[in-house]
Order: sequence, then C-alpha cells, then structure tokens
Amino acid sequence: MAAKLRIMPLGGLGEVGKNMMSIEYGRNVLVVDAGIMFPESDMLGVDYVLPDWGYLRDKKDLMRAVLITHGHQDHIGALSHFLGEFNVPVYATRLTRGLIEVQLEQKNLLAGTTLHTYASDDVVNIGPFTVEPYHVCHSIPDTVGLGITTPGGLIVHSGDFKFDHTPVDGQPTDHAKLAEFSNRGVLVLLSDSTNADQPGHTPSETVLDDAFHQIMREAPGRLIIATFSSLISRIQQVVDVTARHKRKIAIAGRSMVENTRMARQLGYLDIPEEILVSLDEIQNLPARQVVIMATGAQGEPMAVLNRLATDQHPVLGIQDGDTVVLSSHTIPGNEEMTHAVINRLFQRGADVYYGPLAQVHVSGHASQEEQKLLINMLRPHFFVPIHGELRHLKQHGKIARQLGIPDEKIAVVENGYPLTFDDGQLEIGERVPGHHVFVDGALVGKVGPTVMREREALGQSGFVTAVVRYERQTGRPVGQPRIITRGFVFAPEAGELLSQAEDVIRAAASVRPGNPSSEVEVQVESALSRFLHQETRCRPVVTSAVIEE
Ligand SMILES: [Zn+2]
Ligand SMILES: [Zn+2]
Repeated sequence: MAAKLRIMPLGGLGEVGKNMMSIEYGRNVLVVDAGIMFPESDMLGVDYVLPDWGYLRDKKDLMRAVLITHGHQDHIGALSHFLGEFNVPVYATRLTRGLIEVQLEQKNLLAGTTLHTYASDDVVNIGPFTVEPYHVCHSIPDTVGLGITTPGGLIVHSGDFKFDHTPVDGQPTDHAKLAEFSNRGVLVLLSDSTNADQPGHTPSETVLDDAFHQIMREAPGRLIIATFSSLISRIQQVVDVTARHKRKIAIAGRSMVENTRMARQLGYLDIPEEILVSLDEIQNLPARQVVIMATGAQGEPMAVLNRLATDQHPVLGIQDGDTVVLSSHTIPGNEEMTHAVINRLFQRGADVYYGPLAQVHVSGHASQEEQKLLINMLRPHFFVPIHGELRHLKQHGKIARQLGIPDEKIAVVENGYPLTFDDGQLEIGERVPGHHVFVDGALVGKVGPTVMREREALGQSGFVTAVVRYERQTGRPVGQPRIITRGFVFAPEAGELLSQAEDVIRAAASVRPGNPSSEVEVQVESALSRFLHQETRCRPVVTSAVIEE
C-alpha cells in the first residue's frame, strides 16, 4: 500500500490554547507546536492543561522533529513535558529558541535536548519533508508560518498571524513567499481561526502608540502597564513611548524579567540602558517619571498585578495617583478574576484603563478580511481551520466556502480526527479519544474527571468526617465519636448540630455483633448524610473511619 499523507490535530482545534498537531507521511512524523492551555474556571486547582499526545506514543520511533511557530505559551508551554517523554529534535527561530531554552533550563532538560535554529526563508530537509518557515506578523517577533512540502503535496500552516502593514518590528507578513507557495500549488491550508468572528481587519499594532502616548501624558503619577510576559512587541511599544516622555521603566514579574532579558540579549527588544531601572530604584524617582511593566493582566493570582491589588507585593504597592493599564485581551474564563483585580485596584485609589474603555490592546490574530486574503492568495485545494473553539472553526469554514472552496474540501474538525489526503480525496477518520491532561503542581495527568467532581463537591459544601471506635464482637461503638469538618459549618458555633450528629453516628454504629467495620462505615456515612441534609439542606461530602478495637 502506498504511503499516505495524514494530519492529526492533537490540540487547539475546538479550544483556544494547547496547540499541537502531527503531520505524517509513511513512517515519518513531524509535530507542529506543543502548547499549554490556561485552565477554565471549572478546572479547580489546575495550573495548566497539556494536549493529550497518547496517539503519538506508538509512533515514538517515527518522530523526526518538532517544529515551533513562535514563542507563546500556547505553542511552546508543553515542550518540557513532551521532551521528557520523547527525545526529538526541536526547530525554532532564534527568539523562540531563547524562550524555549529558559523553559527547558528550569526543568533541567536543556542539556539533553537537540535544538536547531531555523529562520524565515530557510529550507530545511527533514526525512521526506522540506520545511520552509516564512515570516508572519503576530504579537511576538520572530513568528513564522510553515510551508511543508511532503511527497503528498504542499501544506501551509499559518501559525498565529495577522497582516499588519506597520508592525512594531517593521517586518510585515511575507506576501512574496505566500505568492510563491501559491504558484507551486497548495494542497492544504491550515489557518488560524482565533478571530473568525471578527469582521474587517485587525488594527495595526501602531494604533496603540497613540493610546499609550495619551495615557502617559495625562497620568499624574506612576504608570503601571500589565500584559503577557511573552508580548515582546507590546513591551517594545511601551519602552518607546516611555523614552519619548523621558520617563524610566522598571520590569516586574519573574517571567517578564526573564523574557525581557532574553529578548534584549538576542536583539529583539531595544531598551536603552539609561531608561531601564530596578524596582528599588523607582522608589527614589518622582512618580511622574515612573513606568512599570508588569505581569498579571489576566488576573492570575501569583502575578504582579494581583499582588498589587491585594497589597502583597514585597516591594511595590499601589499609591495615590497611580494609573494602571491592562493591555491584553482577557482569555475566556478569566473574566471574573480580571474584574476582581480591576475593582481592587480602584479601591486602592488607582485609575484603571482596560479593554473596552480604551484602545490599549490589539489582537495578534487575523480578522475575517485577513483570513480571506490568505485563502485567496494561496487558493488551497483543501482547507482546515485551526486554532479556535468550534464556533471559530465553523465560521472560518463558512468564510472558505464563501470564497469558493467546495464543501467536501473543507474539514471543520476538533482535536482527534485524523485527516487523510490521498489522490485528491480527503478522508476524515474515526476520532481517536483524548482528554485534557491536567497539571496540578507536580501531578501530571493524575487529576482526572473523578477528582475534579470530588473537588467540585468539596467546594460546594465542604466535608464532614466521622471517626468511631467500634467493637466487632459486640457490634457496639466505644466511647464518643469524633467529628472533623472543614468548609461545612464553623465547628465551634455548631455545637448543637454536631452533638446531635454524634448521636446519629453512635446509633448507626450499633449493629449486629460480628459486623465488619467496612459495613459499619457505610451505615454511618449514609445515616450522617441523611441527618445533615435533613437539618441543613446541604450535602457536604461525608466520610467515616471506623476503627476496630
Ligand atoms: Zn501566539
Ligand atoms: Zn496561539
């Protein structure tokens, strides 16, 4: 049987984040991106989410390379976990590589990993594939899309992109390369759908210059600007406006400090030495001369902005006259946390600019007209919307149809559906089951749906545990039972309820002589649950420990 070309989406299709896919031909597998997703509000206690790459486990020996499009966490954040399992060379552009090195160093994986640097316009041969990264505009420099020539045809993977004619780094998306791909004939276009429900064009990054300029001019005191630590272009814009206003800038937040250091060292971020100051040095400057670039625009609990809002930062505190700008789009699911931080900042006396109130953020992703432009430039044979929730993918599929791509050549699928391209035909295979892989502290993939349901139940009404000593011979409890409770009622103030509960426990533990303690536990738990619900209309999680004498 002849080899076939197969594309398998493993993350980022049907969700925003944890982007990852494999491209396979015969006994050769390429992986594109390995990102994480930030937890949604119902993922209790989860730090972040990994793609489920179980599908790749029996292809370990066939894997040729991981190709990275850019340095955002939803594209590189899972690499340290992935490389802990698969020893595969990684290809990335210079800045992206720098950001990956920071991550691998933290996990002690840097020494054991083979990293290759590629650049736009390079031609890299990997097994039967020829990989051609090409420059695209996004909100971080050194972002590429990928042309991947396979024996089955040319695949173009857009990465995250927009068509910005006046980007911060002065390098627009490489139209010439796209035209060249088009001339060669594109079999499949995989294109970023994040903003498929946004009509028109995404504004250029330069529109922010005016907004920052105006806010900085009017800010009576210090200006604190929060964004993602990986939005290197945004940091550059703030630095440029800071210099114009003869202010000084300090960087706050570990990831932002590290990314800034790396980007400066590699020449992707230009911060004149004389305007960069430390957090300690700003204490000695007049407030009107200070700009602080900080993490936490998503309301993340551990980031700088939330620590300022709750007055828990070791060096900084909000003071009268401070102006705070949240320069990022709130990721769905983070709204509540972000709004809470904004309210607290106002409470502490800061003036706050955010999202709809001021143009302090532009998206790094293409809107509908740009998505159309890409499709029309490449005129692909097949179209697969990637990077987005199902509603975004569906909308992007509609756009392709409007542009004349026939229905049967468009594959709107979520993670896990293998797409096989053979002889001008596209076949969508059976879904390979997958799930979210939660990372909670050092636990990777150990926290599943059952644990999540338990956390939810505990979060609803807390728990009550009954501890009873029991004599099997007589089938009677010994002494007073003990009740331990958290998150249900405040024990010192619920004496009456808890002493009644003790009677219920004693009665339930009075059984036929010889009954094993395991049976007594079941009895105690059900009686106690019933009693507590009857009395309080609440359903705490009830457990018991019956200890045989
Ligand atoms: Zn991105
Ligand atoms: Zn992305």
